[in-house]
Amino acid sequence: MRIAIAGAGPAGFASAKWLSDRGHDVVMFEKRDVPGGKVSAWRDADGDWVESGLHVFFGAYHNLLGFLSECGLDDCFDWRPAEMNFVSPEHGIHPIRFVPGWPAPFNGLAGVAAFKLLNAEDKARMALGLVQAIFGSQAYIDAQADQTYAAWHLRHGMGQRSLDRVMDAMALALNFQKADRVSAKLVLTALLHFAKETDAPRMGLVKGSPHERLWVPLMQQLGDRGVQIHLGRKIEQIGYDAATNRVTGFVLDDGARVEADLYLSAMPVHSLRKALPDALRQAHPVFADLKHLKGQPVITVQLYFDQMVTTVPNLLFSSGTYLSVYADLPLVSPDYHHGRGSIIELVVAPAEPLFNLTDDELIRVVLDDFYRLHPNARAATLTKHHIVRIPNSVYQARPGVEPYRPDQATPVANLFLAGDFTQQEFMASIEGAIRSAKRAVARIDDAVARAG
Ligand SMILES: Cc1cc2nc3c(=O)[nH]c(=O)nc-3n(C[C@H](O)[C@H](O)[C@H](O)COP(=O)(O)OP(=O)(O)OC[C@H]3O[C@@H](n4cnc5c(N)ncnc54)[C@H](O)[C@@H]3O)c2cc1C
Repeated sequence: MRIAIAGAGPAGFASAKWLSDRGHDVVMFEKRDVPGGKVSAWRDADGDWVESGLHVFFGAYHNLLGFLSECGLDDCFDWRPAEMNFVSPEHGIHPIRFVPGWPAPFNGLAGVAAFKLLNAEDKARMALGLVQAIFGSQAYIDAQADQTYAAWHLRHGMGQRSLDRVMDAMALALNFQKADRVSAKLVLTALLHFAKETDAPRMGLVKGSPHERLWVPLMQQLGDRGVQIHLGRKIEQIGYDAATNRVTGFVLDDGARVEADLYLSAMPVHSLRKALPDALRQAHPVFADLKHLKGQPVITVQLYFDQMVTTVPNLLFSSGTYLSVYADLPLVSPDYHHGRGSIIELVVAPAEPLFNLTDDELIRVVLDDFYRLHPNARAATLTKHHIVRIPNSVYQARPGVEPYRPDQATPVANLFLAGDFTQQEFMASIEGAIRSAKRAVARIDDAVARAG
């Protein structure tokens, strides 16, 4: 069958690979000139990489790891020790280290027991409060989707300090919003994986730019097997015939029409909404309901210094500043070992209050926070910076939105959806995107089998 895919992010690429494995004739359209979606990278005028976001894989990402292995790309990342380093202006750097060699959940519980930013009472309250989530089931966690994590945390007696010092940082890392905005399901799902799988908290970082390490080799492999990938071609609208309830084509921004047997949208939800014709929204509530899924703003900043200003070869998490997660790239990715000083890549969140600042104003806020966390950096010179503003990044995993996440099969027999916002358990993540692709391909298998 001929299958047209809209969007060359992780979900689009995984779908293209698995559909071409099945012998389908696959053509993929990406609106930007660079592949990879929110995991993309491109070069600046000096030839240095600009990344759309700092990306980490976890040991729990079985679908992503399996996909990379199938593509011969297991070598594209390095594992880092399973630890969360919390940084604050008042207390410096303190890790929660999952104890190597100990089984879950004891590796994590021992790490929390040794964590210096919480006192004995906080830790005891957390252990008691989290017991239901740690030893519970996904079904219990799914049932918590209508409340915020902060409400759930306080209701379970865990107190404000552990929320402020640990769980806010986790919520910001997972969805770029604080714990009083995100659904309890988001945070508890991550905790459940850490508590049940010994290797789940292992963190992997790409050895260099995802463009060179992931997308270029993947495009090469897919191209060699006949998948057509068109960059810089935007799907303006999904053509739809209400009389037959079928998609009739993808209409591109230059007016060209692409026809196929089946159509797969791997666009983010805000882009899908723009491409949907009114007739489709009117015909099927599942499409109208996508308005409940909003994109979360986030900003990525890269700071180049003339000397090394940090020493931790892993991710750093902070709450109480705008620098939710960051890493010093030369310390974590060998391709960035350029011997010229630190390249600090930061996820700036919550980004809403900063989104409309000028570049100079934003850099001032970011540097102020960074200097509070790393005072010795004041002695270094900032040689350049990059700012990437993403107004609609991942969908906001807020209380109450879960029922509006669509299945990968739609009420239109020849239209399928993939992307991290569609139904799958890993929510807004690369693993979620790859899982969504696996589910979309399974739905397409069913449709092909039904068609005989
Ligand atoms: C700053 C940042 C940091 C992150 N860190 C992590 C992390 O550490 N770990 C993790 O697991 N996840 C992380 N994520 C989330 C992760 O990037 C996403 O969950 C993942 O990229 C979603 O993949 P996707 O394929 O569903 O969508 P996307 O990556 O958004 O890809 C969709 C593609 O569709 C294209 N498109 C949109 N509209 C059209 C159109 N009209 N026509 C054609 N193409 C179109 C887009 O340009 C894009 O290339 C992070 C995200 C951001 C923004």
